[in-house]
Amino acid sequence: MSEPQLMYSSKINKIRSFALILVFLGIGLMYIGLLFKKTEWAMVIFFILGILAIVFSTVVYFWIGMLSTKAIPIICPSCEKPTKMLGRVDACMHCKQPLTMDKDLEGKEFDEKYNSRKYKREEKKK
Ligand SMILES: [Zn+2]
Repeated sequence: MSEPQLMYSSKINKIRSFALILVFLGIGLMYIGLLFKKTEWAMVIFFILGILAIVFSTVVYFWIGMLSTKAIPIICPSCEKPTKMLGRVDACMHCKQPLTMDKDLEGKEFDEKYNSRKYKREEKKK
């Protein structure tokens, strides 16, 4: 098990940085491909991998766009900047303030588990 994280970044930000990493990875792979100019097959493989990473990042960016339309825009109570929430619990994009849509969870310690289907199912049983 990993150590409990103290700082939570908002989900949209997390996915966005993941997509950004993918873009750099793609460019990096293509750059490595250039170093293999003499070995044609290696160059082609690195180029294809690079293009795949970039295509995948485009898909992820598109997905963020879809998620953003579903996210609920709110004003963060802590820094008073507009942010977006995904799921029952999320963190502010600006100040990482944990936020919840559920009155029952207010005041409780921030936990990603509140978003999981398993938790919701268990709560319904009660
Ligand atoms: Zn905030």
